[in-house]
Amino acid sequence: MPKKQFAVIGLGRFGSSVARFLSEMKYEVLAIDNNSERVQSLAHIVTQAVTADSTDEETLRALGLRNFDVVVVAIGSDIQASILTTLILKELGVPRLVAKAQNDLHGKVLARIGADRVIFPERDMGLRVAHQLISPNILEHIELSPEYGIVEMEAASGMIGRNLRELGIRAEFGCSVLAIKTGNRMNISPGAEDLIREGDVLVIVGRNQDLHRLERSYAES
Ligand code: ATP
Repeated sequence: MPKKQFAVIGLGRFGSSVARFLSEMKYEVLAIDNNSERVQSLAHIVTQAVTADSTDEETLRALGLRNFDVVVVAIGSDIQASILTTLILKELGVPRLVAKAQNDLHGKVLARIGADRVIFPERDMGLRVAHQLISPNILEHIELSPEYGIVEMEAASGMIGRNLRELGIRAEFGCSVLAIKTGNRMNISPGAEDLIREGDVLVIVGRNQDLHRLERSYAES
């Protein structure tokens, strides 16, 4: 299968790090910005770097943007340019559009005009950091929906030497342990008798409120 091709429009801190990482992963990346200095700073890293105004429909058409698998609109502060660019790309028929939003209203508009995924980098990172500050043994939190999530939780001292039944993760908290990681080994769908050892990492799915309850109860142990 040929590798996916990406285009990134807007090379601020967010856009340039997306473009840089995709290039490091050996994907083809077209990077666009109307600021030639920003374009220059990525020119030696990405496949192609172009100075252009993305609110100009003819330019985007001429650059063949509809042939890219995914286009990331990473323009932030100029909300008007972000919306116009997204609208033009949608009309050109880009298969997958990912757009960065500055705030909730901006995000709503982007979703309404057809962005397949809207990203709020500052808000999401803030949530993540706050989460880790509250529960230091939570290594990762993935939001599946506003109600459900998956967490990666380092075994708390109160868990060590006990099995899953004794911990009552399902009975008391209504959550399910999907996997237990021990070093590089992964025990997928562990049984009720499986013991938790020091250094293990539990991957748990559940309702966000139940996951919080579980985190809190072990944070205190
Ligand atoms: P970050 O937080 O990622 O640094 P930001 O929201 O501060 O992003 P902005 O400066 O708003 O970043 O926008 C990111 C980039 O988008 C800038 O480099 C800017 O030059 C570029 N940009 C803005 N408008 C256009 C446009 N119409 N066409 C092309 N590039 C644009």
